[in-house]
Parts: sequence; C-alpha cells; structure tokens
Amino acid sequence: MKILLTAERTLMSNYHGALFLGFMSCAPKNLINSKLFFRFICPPVKVKDGQALLAPYGTRKIEAALLDYGFSEKDVAVVPPEKVGKYLKEAKIVGITTNDPLGLGPASTTFANKSGFIKDESFNAYCFRDLLEKIRGKAKIVVGGAGAWQLAEEKVREELGVDVVVIGEGEKTVPQLFDRILKGEDLRGVFYGEVVENIPVIRKASVGGIVEIARGCGRGCRFCQPTLQKLRSRPLEDILKEVRINAEVNGFVNLHAEDVLRYKAEGLKVNEKAVIELFSEVSKISKVGISHFSLASVSSAEKVVEEISTILGIPNKAQPWIAGQTGIETGSAKLIEAHMPGKVLPFKAEEWCDIVEQSFGICADNHWVPCATLIIGLPGEEESDVLKTVELMDRLKRYKSLIVPLFFVPLSNLRNQKPFSAEDLKSYHWELLAKCWEHDKKWIIDLSKEYLAKMPLISRALLMNFITWAISEGDKRIRGMIEERCTV
Ligand code: SF4
Repeated sequence: MKILLTAERTLMSNYHGALFLGFMSCAPKNLINSKLFFRFICPPVKVKDGQALLAPYGTRKIEAALLDYGFSEKDVAVVPPEKVGKYLKEAKIVGITTNDPLGLGPASTTFANKSGFIKDESFNAYCFRDLLEKIRGKAKIVVGGAGAWQLAEEKVREELGVDVVVIGEGEKTVPQLFDRILKGEDLRGVFYGEVVENIPVIRKASVGGIVEIARGCGRGCRFCQPTLQKLRSRPLEDILKEVRINAEVNGFVNLHAEDVLRYKAEGLKVNEKAVIELFSEVSKISKVGISHFSLASVSSAEKVVEEISTILGIPNKAQPWIAGQTGIETGSAKLIEAHMPGKVLPFKAEEWCDIVEQSFGICADNHWVPCATLIIGLPGEEESDVLKTVELMDRLKRYKSLIVPLFFVPLSNLRNQKPFSAEDLKSYHWELLAKCWEHDKKWIIDLSKEYLAKMPLISRALLMNFITWAISEGDKRIRGMIEERCTV
C-alpha cells in the first residue's frame, strides 16, 4: 500500500447520522469530556477489510481521482487515523483531508482557541496535531481540504512536519503530485489545485452520505473561498451513482452545494425543471437531506421550495423537517453593498432584511429549518450596522431556526484585514449575541429532540443532558459577561 488516505479524527465519524453534530469539532476541548465525546457523540467510522467503511467526501474524491489517474486499488488505502500506524511501514505517502487543521475557521475562532470565548484548543485542531504526531517522519505528508489554507506558511508546515499542502481543488493536481513523489521527487511546499471540469465519481460511501451536486458559487462574496470557483453542476447520472453508493451504506444522502436551489442554474436564476428532476430522481433511491441553500434563491423560487417538500413528503414522522445551512451575515445594507452585493441578487442590498424575513417565512411554511450564520466584525462595521442586525433578529424570532454569530476571519479578497476576536467585542455586539442566544435557546430543545430521535439511547441522553447544561450555563455566563461589559 503506497498511498494512505486519512483525515483527522473528528472528520472520520458519522456522528450517528446526525451530521450537524460535526460542528461540535469546533468546540473547545474542555467543554465536554473527551472520552465521552469520542465514544458517544463522535464515534470512529467502522472498518471493513482493513479500510474505512465511510470517509470524508473530500477523501473519497481524491481516492476516486487516484484510481481514475491509473493507480491500482492495491496502491491506495483509506483508513481511519487510529489505524494508520498499521500501514506506515509500507506507505510512501500519507494524504490527509482537513477542514480546520489549526482551528482558524470561523466557528473555531469564535468558540475556542486564542481568539474565542473559551480559550482552549478546539477538538479539530487537537485531533489534527495528534494525527501528525503519529505519522511525522514516517512517510511524505500531503495535506489538502477546505482548511489547507491554514498551512500556507512555511514556518507552520515545518513545525508540524507537513511536507506538501494542496490549496484548492485536488482531483486533478493531487494524482500528478503523488506520481512525482513516488517517482522519487522530494516535493515540498504549497501547490494550488487546478479547477476540475470532470469531477470524478466516488467509489465508496462518504461520511454523512454527502453527494456533491454542484461546485462553486459565483455570488462573489469578498470573504468567501468558493468565490474563487465558478458554479459547475454535475451530470445527474454521476449524482445518482453516488446516491446509490451512499444509500446502500448510510440509508440516506445529503445533497451538497453552496446553494442546492441553483443546481444547473444559468446565472442566478433557479432552474426549476432541473432542481425538481434532481430531487425527484434522488428521492426514488434514498432519504434526502441538503447541505446549504441561499435565502435569495428561496425568495425568488418559492414554488420550487414547496415542490421539494412535496416530493420528499416532508413533514413525516421520520423527517419532520429538512435543515440546511445558509448565510444572513448582516442586517446592514451598507455592509452587504461593501462585501457581498452578489449574495442578495436578484434583490437589492436595501431589500435584504425583508428578503431574509420572507425566506424564513417560506421555509417555515414548507418545513425547512434554516441554520443561519451572522458575521461579527466585518471590515468597516460600526455600531449602527450591528444594531440593524439586532433589529433583524427581532423580526426572525417566530421562525423555527438556529442563528449562529461567527467572528470575521480574513480570507480571500479580505485576507489582509484584521481578524475579529472575543477581546474586540463591544456592548452592542453583546446585545446581538444575547439576541442570538435567546433565539437559539427558544428552538434548540425541540430541534434537538427531533434531530437526535434516531440516535442510540446513551448518546441521545448524553447530548440532551449536555444541551440542557449548556443552556443553563450559557445563560449564566452570557448574563454575567453582558453585565460586566455594559458597566465598562
Ligand atoms: S453566497 Fe455563500 S458560498 Fe456564495 S460566495 Fe457568498 S458566502 Fe460564499
């Protein structure tokens, strides 16, 4: 086995089919006992014939790309991190998929690590470090994935013992790099992945039953990585192949795109026929979930949202709603205009708050649950901008949803700006945080009960206890912090 593919431990778990729990990997390690976390909430993926039965979607894509390039199945193994040691004697390359290797992504920097509310290392950063300690110096280490940008600095790579980092899409570039390494080239440094036109079809099942339906976005928000990529929708037949693979092992799939409503869209207009065909065909094979949708698309294509819920038979006992991530980011038209004018199209920046509320209403009518983000500390943000978001929060109170405030992380076209940290919070930020807290507190118990219904009893009880504890603890801490800040 010349090539081992793996990922840090928090990515190599199916979270009992409740993939949203994966966000707990961004939590500080001291928030929950690690042994309980890794046993009951983030259990390891099962192993079959020495290989991982499930692996992160990105790892599966690289595996498929290597096989398409000409490597044989005997050359490539996908293994969970705890089994890597077994193969290290033979392996020449260990390829690691990572989302957030140093805990510098928006959720980790908000809740954990040096800049967050609780100054302790996040689970994901800890697990990445732990994995590298096991393999350092024993094979060429190549790291890729959504968080690879965090390893761009040579000093960081040297300290960790990472040889090669691939930033961007890996399917075309990684097989060529691996080929060169196996032919004896001592490759080191950062490589930028070429944009892939023919996205390969995965051979084996993915964590969370993820199936990519489209890649890229094209709305052009200045802080976002996918702005670098144009929107490319995959052929329906490739999607259905991946759906069958995942349905067999997972029993469900999660259709992934930056905006599932823009499958095969030309420009920003929702392609009603293509989206309906997609959901109809997939639902004949498997239970269906979605990853992300855009609020502007919801508002511009209410009928499509309605029809998807009808096709999926939502609500039903097993699936009372369908949830997806989405971005509100701000209630300020000024900040929309400055950093994300494309996000609101075909609407205008000054219409954004109305569009957000209208979309939340459409979602509620059709049993969709938005899990939305806000960004705190965007460049140019002033008190009046934050207060506009506070007002918007009041308008969203009655809609079943979660709204998560995240600190601004300078990426993409805003990479030279200052990152935001807990130390930068002003009293008006606390007002917004308190609104988000009240909103989420109102909905989270019901949502959790429904979402976790299928989990094993012990894991469910542990999580429900944890959520109840976190609510009462959070109440105390947030009230204390607000009182402290507001008297400064
Ligand atoms: S709409 Fe979302 S995915 Fe698209 S560029 Fe903006 S933040 Fe990124």
